[in-house]
Amino acid sequence: MVWPSGEKMSEVSFECRSVGFECEWALRAPSSEEVLRRMRDHVRCAHNLPDLSQDLEARVSSALHAA
Ligand SMILES: [Zn+2]
Repeated sequence: MVWPSGEKMSEVSFECRSVGFECEWALRAPSSEEVLRRMRDHVRCAHNLPDLSQDLEARVSSALHAA
């Protein structure tokens, strides 16, 4: 995928179910930081969690893979 800058970024992808939720939500983002930021919003909205716990953040990080 080519971003507006014209520069090809190395994307990462993530599926919510890979950390144990029964959830079809998945995303691609240009960086692991962006995945974590969006995942934090997602768990608040979709899973009624107050925040992404350190444990969950670690599991998200290890479940990321290159898109
Ligand atoms: Zn989810």
